[in-house]
Amino acid sequence: MAARHRSDNPAICAITFDLDDTLWDIWPIIARAEERLHDWLKDHYPKVPERFSSLELRQLCADIALQQPELAHDRTMTRKEALRLAAGRAGYSEFHVDAAFEVFITARNEVVFFEEVLVVLERLSRRYSLGALSNGNADVGRIGLDRFFAFAINAVDVGAAKPEPAMFEAACRYLKLSPGRIVHVGDDPEHDVLGAARAGLRTVWVNRQGRDWPGGERADAEIKTLAELEAIVERWNSSTPPPRRPTGEPQERLGD
Ligand SMILES: [Mg+2]
Repeated sequence: MAARHRSDNPAICAITFDLDDTLWDIWPIIARAEERLHDWLKDHYPKVPERFSSLELRQLCADIALQQPELAHDRTMTRKEALRLAAGRAGYSEFHVDAAFEVFITARNEVVFFEEVLVVLERLSRRYSLGALSNGNADVGRIGLDRFFAFAINAVDVGAAKPEPAMFEAACRYLKLSPGRIVHVGDDPEHDVLGAARAGLRTVWVNRQGRDWPGGERADAEIKTLAELEAIVERWNSSTPPPRRPTGEPQERLGD
């Protein structure tokens, strides 16, 4: 994606956000949700946790995604399939998979936001249309983010996961905006930055850990926390081009 001049960059009207590891740290939440599910299984189907640890159940999800690639984008379905498989192997001919999954998904939606997130989303939502684009099965309604987000699209809705263009295209259709008027913000270099850039969106890489960029065209901007986001979008939307960054730094296209 080549740097573009200011005249090629229409004003940003909308911002889409990845969820997991962008708005909250996902692995502690998944670990806690799996623990609660394991406790529930002990009470209701004890032979399952006797035979499978939480990590082994997680591995079953990954195995199913590999064995059934048509389900790989649907983390709800892969987890339900894993639970059914585990229950069968543990000797249960009947298993209430929806009840088990509900225990998991309830805990999965009890997120702990990174410190700045709610304040930033509240501010941005006054000026821009905000939306969620997630490969995971977080529920923005249950989490309470629907007060900021005009829409939420996940991989199941469109039948493909990021970095495929389908989710980004769905956001453009929903917003009735060309991709150049939308910025996508996320932590994953491939899913969020390269995928969104290939779909024509502007991109912001959320790099909380100070990781090295793994390669490929860099994001239009890189931030450590969402607190930096509003100023970046404002700068893109202002008439004054930003100063050029030194070579090797993330590009802000307007400067070239
Ligand atoms: Mg993420």
